[in-house]
Order: sequence, then structure tokens, then C-alpha cells
Amino acid sequence: LAKEKGKNTYQFYTSSLNSMDSCKLELENGLRNAIKNEEFTLYYQPQVDLNTNKIIGLEALIRWKHPKYGFVSPAEFIPIAEETGLIVAIGKWVLETACNQHKQWEEKGFSPMRIAVNVSALQFRHKDFAKTIEQIISNTKCRASYLELEITESVMQHLGETTTIMNELKELGVNLSIDDFGTGYSSLNYLRHFPINTLKIDKSFVDEINNGKNGEIIVKVIIDLGNRLGFQVIAEGIENKQQAIFLKQNNCHIGQGDFFSQPLPAEKMERLFSE
Ligand code: C2E
Ligand code: MG
Ligand code: MG
Ligand code: MG
Repeated sequence: LAKEKGKNTYQFYTSSLNSMDSCKLELENGLRNAIKNEEFTLYYQPQVDLNTNKIIGLEALIRWKHPKYGFVSPAEFIPIAEETGLIVAIGKWVLETACNQHKQWEEKGFSPMRIAVNVSALQFRHKDFAKTIEQIISNTKCRASYLELEITESVMQHLGETTTIMNELKELGVNLSIDDFGTGYSSLNYLRHFPINTLKIDKSFVDEINNGKNGEIIVKVIIDLGNRLGFQVIAEGIENKQQAIFLKQNNCHIGQGDFFSQPLPAEKMERLFSE
């Protein structure tokens, strides 16, 4: 297509493509050493009981400080980590760090709460995932019931394999949550088969609350579906009071988003616990 527009366009197009490729390659190389160079940290975002406004859980979110580019968004580097397989090691680091932090907070006397950790599809389906979780729990002494693994609907494509892994995880006592619910390519069928605890309503639906569009109806239906099936329902990406009120009035009991708090580093999170 670019070629049809003339030689100059074509050259511009290829050179910008090349620079995109080389940037990606640079990120990829950077990712290979990022654990060793201690460039990753975890931030934590509170999950709030919409009726009492108390923090009932946290979601761990990875942050990468690249030596040259500064903070690179996980939305940008997680896909690269998945393509290259580096996500397996990075994901393990995230799990270990989150569980260690949880234990440290418990030892400091903060009342323990659930901690949610994002797990990519590749990581979830990688050999012996449940064993890895078992080891991490035993090494860090973080109780399994405090750990919630957030997976996306992309995992659901492999029904048999996924059921096996989920059952192994349930056996260990960890909780399972479907992240970005409603945005993936899956059928509702899996909700009957999988031992799921929590549905997270994607931010894109929450964004449409009070703007008169159909997103609001979708939010109501997801809440209803989740409640009726006995799942906990969490809304993500809440940015204002109107959204929080709408969700509460429609029987969504837990919320997460910048309206309550942005993701914070561990030290700042402690200050919030102490309030
Ligand atoms: P996610 O798991 O759906 O996480 C929610 C994202 O929404 C986070 O972005 C969070 O910072 C952001 N967010 C929360 N509340 C608000 C709000 O009120 N407004 C806006 N605009 N954004 C809000 P983040 O941290 O950039 O992460 C993006 C995605 O990257 C995550 O989406 C998750 O899919 C992935 N990710 C993050 N950390 C990890 C990780 O440790 N492992 C894996 N596999 N994926 C991760
Ligand atoms: Mg998540
Ligand atoms: Mg999400
Ligand atoms: Mg999301």
C-alpha cells in the first residue's frame, strides 16, 4: 500500500518500520537483563469494599525502569516478554516478590489481605505452573488463600488443559480471577466448568457508566451474571464518584481504580494502611 503512494512514502514507511523494529529489539535485549539488573519493581493498587470504603485487597502491577527510556509501560513490554518467552521468568519474579511483600507486611503487623497477581496465558500454560506456585508459597510462607491469580479469557481456549491446571491450583488453595472480563474471545460456557472465584469487569465498560451508552447495560449484566453464579465481582478502572455509586447501587461490591488510589510502591502503600 505504501508503495503505491510513491517512492518517498515507501522509504519513509520502511525506515519508520525499521526504527520500530530496532526499538523493539532494544527493549527485548533490555528485558533479558532486567531481573538481574534489578530494574523491576512492583506497585500495588488497592481493591476497596464499595460499601465500607475499606481496603480488602491489592493488585500487584509490574513497573520497569529502563536505564535509557525510564519507565516503560507493561502494556508495551509484557507483549514482548510473551513473544520471547521471557514472561515465564519475569512472571515468576513477580509472584515471588508479591508473596514476599505480603509476608513482610504480615510480619510488620498490618492485617493481611488478599493479593492479586497477573499471570499471562503463556506463563499459566507453561510446564508445571502449579508446582511453581506451590514452591513459591512454601518458600515465602505466604498463605495460599491470600493469593489470587488474575488470568485473561485467552487462557480459556484450551478447555481441557486449563481445567487441569486450575484444579491443581485450587488444590493448593489459591484463588482464580478472570481479568478484563468481557473483552476476550471466549464463550460463557467456561464459567460453568472452571473453578473461578472472581470476575473483573474491564475498565472499557466502567468508562461508559453515566455516558448513556450501552456499556452501562453490559456492566449491569456482568454484575448480575457474576453474582448469580456466586463469583465475587470487581470493577476496575474506577475514575470518579459517579461510577463508584452506580456500581454500588447495582450490587458490585468491590472496586479498584484511580478514584480510590493509583498503584503505589510498597512504602507508600504502607502509609495508606496506617491511615
Ligand atoms: P490489568 O491487569 O487490567 O491492570 C489494570 C491496569 O489499569 C493497570 O495498568 C492499572 O495501573 C490501570 N488502572 C487502574 N486504575 C485505573 C484508572 O482509574 N484509570 C486508568 N486510566 N488506569 C487505571 P498497568 O499497571 O499499566 O498494567 C497494564 C496491564 O499490563 C495490566 O492490565 C496487565 O494486563 C499487564 N500487567 C501488569 N503487571 C503485570 C504482571 O506482573 N504480569 C503480567 N503478566 N501482566 C502484567
Ligand atoms: Mg489485572
Ligand atoms: Mg484488568
Ligand atoms: Mg484491563
